[in-house]
Amino acid sequence: MGATLAALLRELEPDGRLLMLERLGEPALESSAAVNNAGTGHAANCELNYTPERPGGGLDISKALRINAAFEQSLQFWSALRERGRLTDSTFIRPVPHLSLVFGEEGRTFLRRRHQLMVEHPAFAAMDYSEDAGELAGWMPLVMEGRREQDCLAATRVERGTDVDFGRLTRQLLAGLTAPHGPLELACGVEVTGLQRRGGLWQVAWRSRAEEPGPEQGVVETPFVFLGAGGGTLPLLQRAGVAEARVYGGFPVSGEWLVCHNTDLVERHRAKVYGRAEVGAPPMSMPHLDTRWIDGRRSLLFGPFAGFSTRFLRQGSLLDWPRSLRLTNLLPTVQAGLGNLSLVRYLIGQLSQSQEQRLEALRRFMPGARADDWRHAVGGQRVQIIRQEGGRGVLRLGTEVVATADGSLAALLGASPGASTAVSIMLEVLKRCWADRMVSSRWREVLLGLVPSHGQDLNTDAVLLDRVRRHSDATLGLSREPVPPGAAS
Ligand SMILES: Cc1cc2nc3c(=O)[nH]c(=O)nc-3n(C[C@H](O)[C@H](O)[C@H](O)COP(=O)(O)OP(=O)(O)OC[C@H]3O[C@@H](n4cnc5c(N)ncnc54)[C@H](O)[C@@H]3O)c2cc1C
Repeated sequence: MGATLAALLRELEPDGRLLMLERLGEPALESSAAVNNAGTGHAANCELNYTPERPGGGLDISKALRINAAFEQSLQFWSALRERGRLTDSTFIRPVPHLSLVFGEEGRTFLRRRHQLMVEHPAFAAMDYSEDAGELAGWMPLVMEGRREQDCLAATRVERGTDVDFGRLTRQLLAGLTAPHGPLELACGVEVTGLQRRGGLWQVAWRSRAEEPGPEQGVVETPFVFLGAGGGTLPLLQRAGVAEARVYGGFPVSGEWLVCHNTDLVERHRAKVYGRAEVGAPPMSMPHLDTRWIDGRRSLLFGPFAGFSTRFLRQGSLLDWPRSLRLTNLLPTVQAGLGNLSLVRYLIGQLSQSQEQRLEALRRFMPGARADDWRHAVGGQRVQIIRQEGGRGVLRLGTEVVATADGSLAALLGASPGASTAVSIMLEVLKRCWADRMVSSRWREVLLGLVPSHGQDLNTDAVLLDRVRRHSDATLGLSREPVPPGAAS
């Protein structure tokens, strides 16, 4: 997120100076590391939680349309940076079909209805639906092998899906920004310990975690701060003492995977196959069997399973969660827990899961899965937002930009849909903190060069959608078409 904001600011304010403080020895070792997240380019092609049932019946696909448009913005931005040579290659993104999988007659009815609604929109017009065992076996052989003839399932498929190595992308963005004459200074092994507002500036206190000799602590002054510390954002926001932070608390949930080390199976599966979350389970626990590209190597993952640790960062402290509890968020946290008992029960169930039970969950997807081919791995930490609303604590599963009224500090809480929509989230940070410049003709012109659909609605302009898609796909190597003239034309 920080790298995306820095990349945007470089284009908008070429004379600006940027400093990024990173507590670990290298950037992108927390949630953005490829092994710590699912690497899905979330475009709402397959995630069934983006199309919830409406209370009175019917499906609501508005969130899916929003997320699809946000992902298109990311693709446009990466494509513009690639064309400008700011990204040296596009190996961080690979084409992988996105599938949704359901079981039983009820599942089929749901998916058919969903498909009918979605294909009417240009964004999802290329989505296919099938109940045919032969066709499904072509789409996802490992899922169909070893099934009984009477098994009832259905799937949708969007060929134009992606897997994104967000760690690789982050490193590439930062390499361009820190190159000679680049605007960014990146200080690794430097942990931010506190923030104070003095004389119209933020004083950012830091301490060194590096082993090399050098100053052990210090303070930097800056007119603007973005807190993009992943799970570490909430504690920093609290330390900044801003009024906007008082309504927030956090709840950590970790992701765990089964990783396949049988290269034959890895080669035979080429898809991200998303199922439905269990009743009571949080949406981010939707099981999926995924082709991944991690550090340039193809792999196969199943999960996520939920884990629990009181750490807010994978490499954080066990005291992170208890230390974040304040008088202002303690009661809301308890209320959020009581209001989500099915989630609490689900998490307890997940924690006590054995490897055999995880394999059973995998076998619902892939009946022929053998224990020897899969090992258990721990992924990243997500800190879910607990927000005080109308005097009650409410669990919010999305992301939220928090900005001070004077626009001098912004922070990002939460982690879903996450890195895929980093560009639209960072554009929101700019809008909240630099409202005047966002509407200035200079910034608008630069933004249109970076994100040609900026300020327009891709969901109501099929011609624009087609144009930006063709351009991004060709530039990022997602299609074999030659790169068409500028997407902004
Ligand atoms: C299990 C799991 C699966 C996911 N799957 C997907 C997916 O499929 N698709 C998707 O788009 N998103 C996914 N996400 C979400 C995505 O990973 C995150 O939204 C994204 O990586 C967050 O980026 P970030 O820069 O905000 O945080 P991070 O990548 O965590 O970076 C924050 C950085 O801040 C540093 N830091 C923390 N505290 C301090 C401090 N005090 N001082 C200095 N530095 C500090 C950390 O060391 C870290 O390097 C998933 C997340 C998880 C956990």
